[in-house]
Amino acid sequence: MVNETLLETLRGIAGSQAVRKDVPMSGLTTFQIGGPAAVVVEPSCVQEAANVLAACHEAGQAVRLLGLGSDLLVADTGVSEVIVRFAERFSGIAVEGSRMTVEAGASNAQVAQAALAAGLAGYEFASGIPGTIGGAAIMNAGAYGGEFRDVCCSLVCATPQGHLVNLHAWQACWGYRHSMMGDEGWAVLSATLQLRPDSPHAIRERMDDLAQRRADKQPLEMPSAGSTFKRPVGYFAGKLIQDAGLRGFRVGGAQVSEKHTGFVVNAGGATARDVRDLIAEVQRRVYEMEGVRMYPEVRMWGFDDEQ
Ligand SMILES: Cc1cc2nc3c(=O)[nH]c(=O)nc-3n(C[C@H](O)[C@H](O)[C@H](O)COP(=O)(O)OP(=O)(O)OC[C@H]3O[C@@H](n4cnc5c(N)ncnc54)[C@H](O)[C@@H]3O)c2cc1C
Repeated sequence: MVNETLLETLRGIAGSQAVRKDVPMSGLTTFQIGGPAAVVVEPSCVQEAANVLAACHEAGQAVRLLGLGSDLLVADTGVSEVIVRFAERFSGIAVEGSRMTVEAGASNAQVAQAALAAGLAGYEFASGIPGTIGGAAIMNAGAYGGEFRDVCCSLVCATPQGHLVNLHAWQACWGYRHSMMGDEGWAVLSATLQLRPDSPHAIRERMDDLAQRRADKQPLEMPSAGSTFKRPVGYFAGKLIQDAGLRGFRVGGAQVSEKHTGFVVNAGGATARDVRDLIAEVQRRVYEMEGVRMYPEVRMWGFDDEQ
């Protein structure tokens, strides 16, 4: 329960249209699953974001940080925290020479398109990752041999207390789907990317090629949160699942994709419980049959044993 005084403060900071109550998370996640969020606030600039975080901290109110929800499974019962969402309202992009400074809510696709328009190469790898710059920075998102850490030279973040911090890239301590900001619960507010000049024709060709490779392999026509499991060292999650005979395996509306066994998809009306149960069963059977433990890559919110 978020108290009315804090709600009024948040409306004062971000504007009343940017503060919504009882928002279904199924509309804010690519899985299209999840119960209501008590409150969603969408700041539109760095100072608003810092003030929102400071106000929640002072009120003792827990927050969660959200981008485009493309790596999330939210419980059917929803989440009681204040969700601070960095998306459309916080998506400015500025180009200066071969550097781009991008606000956290800009989508990877928008950034890749802006880089293409400016004749800057290096972000093609992320053009098909359906999240934001903030999500990419927190997860060190990667694809087709590229990772966010390869192109980011600095970040502006906010601590849970709402203090602004400028970071050099090395301070982010990026690893596989991991960052210091994620460990510390810091909000990523903007990132500066160092790209390199190249011909727009060559950049577009690489983007088109990667888009085709994704469309060929991934179930993009069905709601999901991408690769469900982290890559176990020395293995491929999808291959382990396939070898365990789980292609197409279903629990309720949740299904191991027929097209790519590394993806769990919402095949229609899936609940978060269905997805959780399916994940647990896949983990159990892969361990039983192949002796390998698999851990979810997808973040889970609102469950008793949150991962
Ligand atoms: C079809 C499909 C394909 C995908 N392919 C890939 C792929 O190739 N490579 C890959 O790495 N991922 C992939 N993903 C997963 C996902 O898109 C990425 O992990 C993405 O970086 C998540 O960004 P987001 O904005 O959606 O984050 P969200 O899902 O909203 O949040 C994910 C995590 O980041 C945190 N977070 C989000 N924004 C901020 C912020 N501004 N500050 C601090 N914390 C924040 C959240 O608290 C949460 O812990 C795929 C997903 C789908 C659905």
